[in-house]
Amino acid sequence: MEQLKFMKTKQIIAIALVALLLGGGIYSSFFTEDKPNGTKPTPNVSTKPEVKAPTFDGDSALAKVAQQVDFGPRVPNSKGHDACGAWLVSELTRLGAKITTQDFSLKAYDETPLRLQNIMASFQPEKTRRILLCAHWDTRHMAEKDPDPARRNKPILGANDGGSGVAVLLEIARHLQTTPTAVGIDLLFLDGEDYGASDNVSDDSAYLNPGFYSTWCLGSQYWAKNKMPQGYNPMFGILLDMVGAADAQFCKEKFSMEVAGDLVNLVWANAEKESYGMFFQDREVNGVIDDHVMLNRGGVRCIDIIDTRPIPASMGLGEYTFPSYHHTHKDDMSSVSKNTLKAVGQTVLRTIYNM
Ligand SMILES: [Zn+2]
Repeated sequence: MEQLKFMKTKQIIAIALVALLLGGGIYSSFFTEDKPNGTKPTPNVSTKPEVKAPTFDGDSALAKVAQQVDFGPRVPNSKGHDACGAWLVSELTRLGAKITTQDFSLKAYDETPLRLQNIMASFQPEKTRRILLCAHWDTRHMAEKDPDPARRNKPILGANDGGSGVAVLLEIARHLQTTPTAVGIDLLFLDGEDYGASDNVSDDSAYLNPGFYSTWCLGSQYWAKNKMPQGYNPMFGILLDMVGAADAQFCKEKFSMEVAGDLVNLVWANAEKESYGMFFQDREVNGVIDDHVMLNRGGVRCIDIIDTRPIPASMGLGEYTFPSYHHTHKDDMSSVSKNTLKAVGQTVLRTIYNM
């Protein structure tokens, strides 16, 4: 995701204004009741008796992170990327999903032509009421925040940033095959999220340049403009990004709250019921530019479950930083815990099996 993380509140507001002026419908869709393309409000399910969701297996999810890491960095155009993409398609096919792929090429911020692929895996494709679950499957091509300057131009393994969200979705797919949900579920694996320009921007005003922040989230930007299937309109979406750290903190992220605060509160309440309140904190933080923002721009109300670390209120309410492994070579298997994967996976399962 893009580095809105160190920004001051006023800078977040400034970005929102810039995006409103230049980006079209993102922020207008956050603030209007009637969504321009007919996106539906999140249904209130609180009065229905709860359905027991399947039990999420943290060990199995952790093994799926390891399988991705074994491919090496999944940077677009690399062998690891190609191998991981083929593996995802084959795994999801084996699990009974209907696969739709979206292959496209884009130029990165540094003019590198990138071969990218979004992968959609649909369960019960005949159902019209649908929920979208998504994660990015690419990994960062550099480690600009690594303590060792000599290794900052090397790609990271992305066990957490990339690998964890994908692993949770794959593990959920295993249950979707054997225990159908009442609504149809689509798993969307987005490419090119992490190929943005360097995060180490000393002058904060650089963030105000859409030419900077639009270098991120390439797959979701493309998907939002070229939705597959055509006219796709799920009830809502949930994005998983960096969901594996042992000490992860998932706060209520500003853009998610604005576009679907009811859904955020429902998911966080489900986490509390599953006794995972230590991860899902009842605390709001400033916005993150991540794939959910681009999907919202495309008219799909989507929230983000992402590891953000709030910093003391004395430094500004809602301010946060990303965890220390972020965009460093510490983002390897040591940064991922099966307990956190389970906390997130079980919370999402409880949510989707009760829709
Ligand atoms: Zn990242």
